[in-house]
Amino acid sequence: MDTKADIFYRELPKVELHAHLNGSVSFKTMEKLISRKPHLNIEHSMTAIRSGQQRTLEECFQVFKVVHQLVNTEEDILMVAKDVINEFAEDGVKYLELRSTPREETKTGLTKRRYIETVLEAIRQCQNEGVDIDVRFLVAVDRRNGSDVAMETVKLAEEFMLSTDGLVVGLDLSGDPTVGHGRDLLPALHRAKSSGLKLALHLSEKLFQVPSQLEESELLLSLPPDRIGHGTFLHPNMGGAQRLVDQVVKHNIPLELCLTSNIKGQTVSCYSKHHFQYWYQLGHPSVICTDDKGVFCTDLSQEYQLAASTFGLSHEDVWKLSVQAVDCTFAPDHVKHRLKRRWEDFKPHVLR
Ligand code: 5GP
Repeated sequence: MDTKADIFYRELPKVELHAHLNGSVSFKTMEKLISRKPHLNIEHSMTAIRSGQQRTLEECFQVFKVVHQLVNTEEDILMVAKDVINEFAEDGVKYLELRSTPREETKTGLTKRRYIETVLEAIRQCQNEGVDIDVRFLVAVDRRNGSDVAMETVKLAEEFMLSTDGLVVGLDLSGDPTVGHGRDLLPALHRAKSSGLKLALHLSEKLFQVPSQLEESELLLSLPPDRIGHGTFLHPNMGGAQRLVDQVVKHNIPLELCLTSNIKGQTVSCYSKHHFQYWYQLGHPSVICTDDKGVFCTDLSQEYQLAASTFGLSHEDVWKLSVQAVDCTFAPDHVKHRLKRRWEDFKPHVLR
């Protein structure tokens, strides 16, 4: 991590809704992985983007490929998922929705089903060990892999949603936004939605080929999704369109906003120009998230502090943002009520 957030932000009870498992691997865990696979000759500089460094979004996707080489067995996934969950808990995250793309690895015999089962096993082990965090899982579809794989992933996600008593709550759509078109994925996304999976979709993340991007955003918004990842170029000041904003507002679709990720991935030029400002001023539900805390060398406390210092938020404002994030989770109502009660218990200690 580049710097440590002040005590208020660390003590603030937090909800993390946008965290990709393999992007969240810390320096410490990376060391363990690198020592397990020395023959790959992978160095830390290849898996993390440090303070002051930037990469294009395309280069970020190359970083994920390097991480994937290091995380290719059930044993790796179990360790990585447990470490990531523990680290979020140490950072004061009380509710986490982790997402990951099930992968099969012919070399190690890993299957997509075992991939998901192993992440769920890590969640259960952390629960049994008394780690103070409620963790749910979103199965991710990598748009690069096309419509057939998307449908196959949705079917797997449905199965796990039905068999895991609320651990699998939804579906994520992510991967390189310049590859493929959302229209091809609509049948899979519709199926997911009608089966009861919540949809968290990366949308309008990068500005390119404007007409087709607007068309894709419009199509995906017509579902409508339950949450939007990034949404950087939705609004007209950023090359989007008022009609897209109107859709988001009409359906009250929360945005998952990841400041450092967008700066280091160069889709936003500087913190003060981050679209958090636009949506926050509208009073629209905006949830601060990390995206890939390992790759972007950050944590959720730091992201809250950055938002506060950049946009002049008081501790009271930050507290409200954190409470509002509870409403944006995919957890059932009784869990939201339980979390809200916990937040009330924390309040006098944190907002003193
Ligand atoms: P995994 O799914 O392997 O646990 O996490 C890494 C994957 O998450 C990447 O390969 C990519 O598909 C997705 N991902 C991580 N960060 C981003 C991001 O900022 N934007 C998009 N579109 N996808 C991302």
